[in-house]
Amino acid sequence: MKAKSTSPSPQAAAFLDRDGVICEFVEELSDISEFRFREGIASAIQKLNQAGYLVFVATNQPNIARGKMTWNALEQIHQVMVQQLSLQGARIDKVYFCPHRVGGVISQYAFDCDCRKPKPGLLEQAARDYSIDRAKSMMIGDTWRDIECAKRFGITGLAVKGGSGFPYAPHKEESRYQPSQLFSGPLEAVNWWLENQ
Ligand SMILES: [Mg+2]
Ligand SMILES: [Zn+2]
Repeated sequence: MKAKSTSPSPQAAAFLDRDGVICEFVEELSDISEFRFREGIASAIQKLNQAGYLVFVATNQPNIARGKMTWNALEQIHQVMVQQLSLQGARIDKVYFCPHRVGGVISQYAFDCDCRKPKPGLLEQAARDYSIDRAKSMMIGDTWRDIECAKRFGITGLAVKGGSGFPYAPHKEESRYQPSQLFSGPLEAVNWWLENQ
């Protein structure tokens, strides 16, 4: 099923990673009881809404393929996330997630897909569902996968501390993806982005 854009002209879009950006990073978060919003995220999204951005979530959820989380549990988490943000005046247009992982135990999801970040498949799907102006769009993430995904899709990648990723130790292989902009949290990243457009 495809969502339809309400606007015929291309719109700026903000893609937000979930774990470590929208919510506090929790290892293998698989139940709504473990979900805590990061500070400032509702006002960050609200500011993007007011500036005319489409706001999408793009998240890898390999625990589906690993059999550690059910599809229903994941949908419940996302439903509550969207509703609670909405109650705070923050609109998420759509949640895109990748349930796949090579080596997973659920065979229908255990393959090398095109949507697991850093591959840009989730963002490409959004670009099929909505009319997106990539030159004005960005992604916020807490790991190298998000920054590389943004690059492959052709948008700016902004990094935030406090999740599972940045900052990396210089000797780590991921350090070659060190972002040009690193913020303390999602609200700081959004404030900087909107001020510099
Ligand atoms: Mg993350
Ligand atoms: Zn996938």
